[in-house]
Amino acid sequence: MPSGGALARRYRRYGFLNLTATLGAACAAAYFAASYAGGVVEANLRASARETLAVQAEALSGVLDKHRLLAGTLSRRGDVRALFSEPGQQIDRQAAWRIAVQAAGLSSALDVVFFTTDGEPVASGLSLFDDSRLDPSSPLVRAAKFGQLGREAFTFDHGQRAYVFTSGIRGPDTAVVAIVAVFVSLDRLEATWSLSADPIYVVAENGRIFLSNRARWRLRPEPEIIRAGSGALLYETGEGWRAHLDASRFLPLLDWELHVLSGTAPADIARLLWGAITGGLVLLAGLGVQALINRQYVVTLRGRRDRAVSLRLERVVRDRTRALSQSNETLKREVHERRQAEEQLRRTQSELVQTGKLAALGQMSVSLSHEFNQPLAATKSYADNALKYLELGRGKEARDNIRRISELTDRMADISRHLRNFARKPNPTFGNASIAKVIEDAMAVLGARLRETGARVELDMPEGDVRVRGGPVRLQQVFVNLFSNALDAMEGIADPLIEVSVRRRGHRTLVAVHDHGSGIAPEAAASMFDPFFTTKEVGKGMGMGLSISYNIVKDFGGRLTAANHDEGAVFTVELESALEASEAAQ
Ligand code: ADP
Repeated sequence: MPSGGALARRYRRYGFLNLTATLGAACAAAYFAASYAGGVVEANLRASARETLAVQAEALSGVLDKHRLLAGTLSRRGDVRALFSEPGQQIDRQAAWRIAVQAAGLSSALDVVFFTTDGEPVASGLSLFDDSRLDPSSPLVRAAKFGQLGREAFTFDHGQRAYVFTSGIRGPDTAVVAIVAVFVSLDRLEATWSLSADPIYVVAENGRIFLSNRARWRLRPEPEIIRAGSGALLYETGEGWRAHLDASRFLPLLDWELHVLSGTAPADIARLLWGAITGGLVLLAGLGVQALINRQYVVTLRGRRDRAVSLRLERVVRDRTRALSQSNETLKREVHERRQAEEQLRRTQSELVQTGKLAALGQMSVSLSHEFNQPLAATKSYADNALKYLELGRGKEARDNIRRISELTDRMADISRHLRNFARKPNPTFGNASIAKVIEDAMAVLGARLRETGARVELDMPEGDVRVRGGPVRLQQVFVNLFSNALDAMEGIADPLIEVSVRRRGHRTLVAVHDHGSGIAPEAAASMFDPFFTTKEVGKGMGMGLSISYNIVKDFGGRLTAANHDEGAVFTVELESALEASEAAQ
């Protein structure tokens, strides 16, 4: 793969080559198109000029042919010859004039004039030649005298132009005695030429322009209006010298040359137009190719960039994957270690719970001995009394005392059962427990302390059997700890009261144990759930109660939280609700 710089250079080279080729092709195309279009238009112009030339040559010959015959015919007419039959005799000018008028009128000639062989006018039909005479040495007079048809382009002194045919009138001895001249006007023909936009002119035998639809050219020598240009001849148009194509024809009868010119402007315009259009199109095509080259460059560049990015990405992904699988391995190891640690912790915890319970039992042993001593003492005195009553024959009193002994025994059995339950290591699998029963059992465990302190427990709970997910024995342990702490906090307070409220909230059941004691000390707030944290004096507290309770509740998927309120502390046990007893039975 070439580098970025090499790629840019390569495409710059392509661009340069394309530009050069485009410019060359555009110039060549413009040149050929211009030449071709100019050639076609010029050919059209030439063809059209040739057509005009043919038509005008015919028209010119037609006009002159008609009058050419008139001179010969008149000279041979009997009445004309009769006019000049007697040499030296007075010529009847009146008769001659009538014949001239009539011939001019009938042939629409400019004039018909009779001359003497010296060129003196005898009679001019339309008075054109009244005041002047023909030069006796002019070709017109000489040809007529030799019996030929004289003809000449003639310009009057006052500038009028006419074509003249002369013919000799022979006397009785066949010698030419007089001359008849027919003057033909070409003004009308010239007038029709002025309809043509292109110049038309006739060069007479004397090298001058005799007729033309360009007034400024008339009677001037032809070379005066022509100049050689590059390629075409230039003609003086009054607006400068302009190039024209020349179509010409020699009219042998008149010894004239008829020219029809065509301006080359249309050919020049066609050349310019087609050259510009073709060159422009080729340039456009070249620009299109340039745009394609640029686009290809951008696409190639983008492709390279994309490829580079995706390669980089692949590398990053590969590195990340490797790092991930490494950290996965580490994680797996850590999870395994953590599991082992948790297992260890659980084992330690369960041992601690047991230790805590034993410690609590130790604590309780003092009150327990009191608990058992008191009913034992009572039992002893009731038994002694019963004996005495039996000796006295007072059976009723004796029975009454025995009944009390039985009741006291039941109470002791009750206490012992609760203690057994409390001390037992709980089953790790748990089902559900009735909150009322758990609280009742906890209160039974603490019965002696409650009675001793005169504390009351007020229970506020909804109708029916509220059950929660958890083992009854361990939950009982939680509430024994909470009640015991509450009693500790309310030590020395008159009329101690523990309020227990049970509320359902969605799928959870909240049991709040609310005392009216000293409240949670600020130094205890952050660490009271830690193991071995206590604010109590040595021998009174071990700092295990809340830590154990916290873990028990957590094991059941619940939460144990603590807060102070207006008076005392409130500990809330939040547990997952279980089906009520009746629902469970169903
Ligand atoms: P112990 O009761 O052995 O101190 P606990 O873990 O049960 O251990 O309690 C930790 C500490 O939390 C107590 O020392 C006490 O400062 C605080 N505490 C617990 N219950 C209450 C309560 N009801 N009112 C005020 N403080 C309490």
